[in-house]
Amino acid sequence: MGGASTKLTRGKTRRLVFILGDQLNRDSAVFDGHDPATDLVFMAEVSAESTKVKSHKARTTLFLSAMRHFRDQLRSDGLRLDYLEFDADGNPGTLDGALALAIGRHKPAEIVVCEPGEHGIAVAIESAARREGVALRFAPDRHFLVSSEEFAAFARGRKSLRLEHFYRPLRAKFGILMDGKEPVGGQWNFDHDNRGAFGKEGPGLLPAPTAFSPDKLTKAVIALVQKQFPEHPGDLSQFDWPVTRDQSLMALDDFIAHRLPHFGRYQDAMWTGQPWLYHSRLSAALNLKLLDPREVVARAEEAYRSGQACLASVEGFIRQIVGWREYVNGLYWYFGRDYRESNGLAAERPLLPLFEDPQCTRMHCVRSIVQDVQDRSWVHHIPRLMVLSNLALIAGVNPQEFLQWMRERFIDAADWVMVPNVIGMGVHADDGRMMTKPYAAGGAYISRMSTYCKGCVYDPKKRVGDTACPFTTLYWDFLARHREHFAGNHRIAQQLHGLDRLSDLTDVREQAVELAFMRRENGI
Ligand code: SF4
Repeated sequence: MGGASTKLTRGKTRRLVFILGDQLNRDSAVFDGHDPATDLVFMAEVSAESTKVKSHKARTTLFLSAMRHFRDQLRSDGLRLDYLEFDADGNPGTLDGALALAIGRHKPAEIVVCEPGEHGIAVAIESAARREGVALRFAPDRHFLVSSEEFAAFARGRKSLRLEHFYRPLRAKFGILMDGKEPVGGQWNFDHDNRGAFGKEGPGLLPAPTAFSPDKLTKAVIALVQKQFPEHPGDLSQFDWPVTRDQSLMALDDFIAHRLPHFGRYQDAMWTGQPWLYHSRLSAALNLKLLDPREVVARAEEAYRSGQACLASVEGFIRQIVGWREYVNGLYWYFGRDYRESNGLAAERPLLPLFEDPQCTRMHCVRSIVQDVQDRSWVHHIPRLMVLSNLALIAGVNPQEFLQWMRERFIDAADWVMVPNVIGMGVHADDGRMMTKPYAAGGAYISRMSTYCKGCVYDPKKRVGDTACPFTTLYWDFLARHREHFAGNHRIAQQLHGLDRLSDLTDVREQAVELAFMRRENGI
């Protein structure tokens, strides 16, 4: 994204600093050299950002509440600010419309915006500035450790973009969990220690994450969201997300002290009725930039160095933050705008009704998890990947419909997060540009990693018959359907060979055809 230099005019607003709803960091590059005497901050609540994907009520509440708290902080810091509230007279409801309104009001010599985290937003801002004839400069987003240019330099010319090849040099460059030139503990990756399931006894007494009861300002936003978006998905009765930097730091403290020590071992485990387990619940605050990934990583490393948490837990968590999170952001920009339209497996089934209404399915895992998403706008990465995305993948749901659903429902669903995670990792729609093999699994995986199957009418071991687990049936059908497509892929060869051992493959495929017509009335 380029910018244009400008000859600044004295006597009116010199710079209009436009802050987007997910750019709530006080140390953003847009504040470099900020002079409240001549510079003005502009923020706008616009309905289009909640309706272009029909956002979960909690997601809209989080954005608006965090924006209003940030506005108050900037004012108390002495900055001049124009804040366009959602229901203000004349609010045009779009980002470019709001920007045009602000340009008309303040006649700035220059607009400064931090690089947005979504392709379409940069384009909308650019065209508004062009239309109004005002110079625009995109300031670099310093939130990420790796810029899009640095990622492109890493990725260019590589045959495969493996996380590990990206993560290790990053650790070394920033001195994260390093002893000189070597990784602490003599190895880079403790992945094999991070796949534990809870035994029969379960996770035991879990430390509940710190809850942040809505204050007066958040309560007003909740009332606004209930009134403006009654038909949007989700429930606000449990809204307790951190909405300020101070609260986000408290949430970080809470995670480091109470859940990080067990995070690594159980990060892939699921347990009925326990959505949080040992997860950090920091992704929303990080994506709003209320937290900086460097401080989060430093706190985790400190916990290891002081003996508060073991290396496998700390490395597993750090890999999520400076490994996966940075990698996904880099891929989003590297793959470009058209990547989201990929459909390499030609999956054309419409979104299954159970994603909209969890009560219409008897699949216990899916019903519980979709209900959790409805209640909290969040579940951790394994239900997202191995239950929701896995079902969309093996059932052949259209990737763009599923992406839209994921963007709508999750509190942390920034475009840069969701596009690679869904298109590349979740439903393998990109012909393997991101991941070398699809994350397809039958009921056995869910049974091993959770307690859902105990309360289910289906049997994860069965692939045909009335009590056959739809995951198991669809898993084998998926492999059979795409056998040719994956024929040369050695990473999935063992799974494909499994097809040859199935004496009932014809029956499985017939049953999968019946499942293909998943409708409310047959309870799937
Ligand atoms: Fe889910 Fe199948 Fe287990 Fe039921 S049996 S909970 S559908 S994996």
